[in-house]
Amino acid sequence: MDRPSFKEFDQSFAQFAREQGFRRTELTDLPTGALVAYVRDAEGAGVERSVYISAGIHGDEPAGPLALSELMRKGSFSRNVNWTLLPLLNPDGWQTGTRENAQGIDLNRDFFSFAASETQAVAQWIPQRAPFDLYLSLHEDWESSGFYLYEINACAAASLSATILQAVAGIIPIEPQGIVDGHKLCAPGLILHPPRPDEPDCWPEAIFHADLYSLHSYTFESPSSLPLAQRIAAQVTAVKAAVQGFG
Ligand SMILES: [Zn+2]
Repeated sequence: MDRPSFKEFDQSFAQFAREQGFRRTELTDLPTGALVAYVRDAEGAGVERSVYISAGIHGDEPAGPLALSELMRKGSFSRNVNWTLLPLLNPDGWQTGTRENAQGIDLNRDFFSFAASETQAVAQWIPQRAPFDLYLSLHEDWESSGFYLYEINACAAASLSATILQAVAGIIPIEPQGIVDGHKLCAPGLILHPPRPDEPDCWPEAIFHADLYSLHSYTFESPSSLPLAQRIAAQVTAVKAAVQGFG
């Protein structure tokens, strides 16, 4: 399975989102194309929750954006949630297949300095939609052999990690133990992370959100060495399990 070009991805995602009643907002224009957000608010009365999902902040991690596209195509975003989706945060990196943006900036370490136009645009726009009850970000890892996740739980809500990992385990191996990405797994597939950055000036997107408001945050990491279709299926399953578990 090959990944589409940015233009192909953007056009098909836009069409699926239109069919599902999402509103498209272009946050900033880049050489490859626009950095786009999609939003849709809950319909009718009842319990409303706000969920934020981002993907593609690293251009060499295609499973996340393609998983969100699959969820959109199938109409999997339920009607009782206020959704905020940033399906492909790094269009230039996607186009070249690189982790960083066109200026060589790792956007997921730029949420303190805001040197990149991508992170500036996101930070300016986010207050229109924040706060979120649940934050999900979809990543991949070249060094792990199994799926794992980061949990930031700054609101003392019941953890969803076991539910998510159990669902994903049916599709893809879970990273069993040891150190991944400089962090020790405290259980198979699970890194519990404080709502603080590892390095003072290099804030990831998740820490930016955790600093703005008290939230429940999961960052998914699928192993890049496995077939893309399997990684997409794992990310789709993880998102569904998190949102269902949250409800
Ligand atoms: Zn990543």
